[in-house]
Amino acid sequence: MIPLSPERTTSFIQEPDIGAKRYFLWTVGCQMNEAESAKAGAILRNAGFQPARREDDADVIIVNSCVVRQQAEDKVAGKVGALARLKRANPDLKIAVTGCMVTGQEAKLKERFPHVDLFYGPSEFERLAELSPELAEVDVDLAELPHYYEDTDSDETGVSAFVPIIYGCNFVCSYCIVPYRRGREISRPFDEIVNEVREMASRGVKEVTLLGQTVNAYGHDLPGDTELSDLLIAVNEVDGIERIRFLTSHPKYFTDRLIDTMAQCEKVCEHVNLPVQAGDNEVLRRMRRTYTVEHYRDRIQRIRDTIPGVTLSTDIIVGFPGETAEQFEGTMKLLEDLRFEKVHQAMYSPRPGTLSARWEDEVPADEKRRRHQAIEDLQTRVSAELNEQYEGKVLEVLVDGKQRGRWRGRSRGNTLVFFDAPGNWLGETVNVRITEPMTWYLIGEVEHEPARV
Ligand code: SF4
Repeated sequence: MIPLSPERTTSFIQEPDIGAKRYFLWTVGCQMNEAESAKAGAILRNAGFQPARREDDADVIIVNSCVVRQQAEDKVAGKVGALARLKRANPDLKIAVTGCMVTGQEAKLKERFPHVDLFYGPSEFERLAELSPELAEVDVDLAELPHYYEDTDSDETGVSAFVPIIYGCNFVCSYCIVPYRRGREISRPFDEIVNEVREMASRGVKEVTLLGQTVNAYGHDLPGDTELSDLLIAVNEVDGIERIRFLTSHPKYFTDRLIDTMAQCEKVCEHVNLPVQAGDNEVLRRMRRTYTVEHYRDRIQRIRDTIPGVTLSTDIIVGFPGETAEQFEGTMKLLEDLRFEKVHQAMYSPRPGTLSARWEDEVPADEKRRRHQAIEDLQTRVSAELNEQYEGKVLEVLVDGKQRGRWRGRSRGNTLVFFDAPGNWLGETVNVRITEPMTWYLIGEVEHEPARV
C-alpha cells in the first residue's frame, strides 16, 4: 500500500450548527487509514458531531497512526505527545488513537501517553462508544457509509471514494510489520461491498478505489471461488460509477484472469500499481516476496499485451540488508527496461518485530542515499519522456478539485492533469488536450467536441 504524505485532516464540510460537539481527525499512512478515518468521521456525524477546522476547536480528536516507516511512527508519537497541552487546557476533550501503532501495544502506549482516553485497533469502531454517551448510542453498522471524504483545506466534494475490501495480509515479507499489526486476511462479504458501492454512486461518487494490503488476494478466505475479478465485474455494472481502481496488488496473485477482466470491464482504469521491491532474485528471496524477477517481468508483459495504453507504477526498497552494488544494478536495469510511469521508493529502515530487523543493516546510509538518488534520477528522465508522448493527445480527466486556481483531475492512467477554464468542472469527466507535459503532471485545455455535420 502506498503511504500517502504528509498527514491529512479529513472531515465533511457542512453547515455549521452552533453548539454541536466537534471532532478532528488526523491521519497518516496509506489509503486504508484514509478509508478508516472516513468511516470514523461518518460514525461521529451520525452521533451528531460536526467537523472542526482546527484541533483546538474539537471536543473529540482521533489520531489514525501508521508504523510502516519509522518516520511516520515518530511523527505520530510527536503528534500524540503534543495533544497533552490541549488536554490540560480542556480536561473534557476526548482523545483517541487508532491505526497500526495501537495493535498489541495498548498497555505500553497507555503508560507513555496517559492523556489519551482511548486506544483502539484498526476497524474496532464499536470501541468509539467508550469515548462519549452520544457515541455509545450510534449504530456503528448504520454508519458504514459513506467512505468518501473531503479535505478541510479545500472546496472539494466527494467524487472519489476508497472502499476497503480485504483487511490484513497472509504474506510475511521479512521487512514488513503489517501482518503483525493487521493480522491475517479477512475479505468483506461480496454483496456488502457491491451494495456499498451502489449507495456511494447514489450519493454522487464516480470513482471507487478498492483497497487492501493485498487487494488481489480478495476472496481467498471466502467460501466458493470468489476473487477480485468477480468483484470488478459486479462493480462495473453499478450505474453512476465511471471509474474503478484497486490497490495494492501482489505480483503472485496478478493472474491472467485478473488481467483479462481489467481489459473487459470498461470502467476499470488502465492503471496498475504492482510493487516489485527489488530487481534481484536473491534480494527478493531474502525479502520473502515469493516471486522472481522473471515472474514479475512476465506479468508486466502480459498486462501490456492485454490492456492497450496501460500505465504502470511500482514500489522499490533500496538498501535492503545485504543488497550489493551489483544486486542494486539489477533493480536499475529492471526500471530502465520496464519504464514505469511512477516509482515509489523508500530507503530500507528496520521495523522492530520483523524478521529482517534481526539482521545487520549493513548498507551504509551514504550508499543507501546514493542508490535512492540514482533511482530518482533515472525515474525523473523516464517519467518526463513518457509524459512527452501525451503532447497534443486528448485524455479523459475526472476533475476532483482546484489547486492554485487551476482545475485538477486524473486521467484514467492516474496521471495528474491541470487545466484552466471558466465555470464549475468539479466532478465532471472532461476531455483535455495536453499542451504542456511536465515531468510529474500534465497541463492542457478543455477539448470541445467538433461540431457534427
Ligand atoms: S505483501 Fe508483504 S509488504 Fe505487503 S503487506 Fe503483506 S507482508 Fe507487508
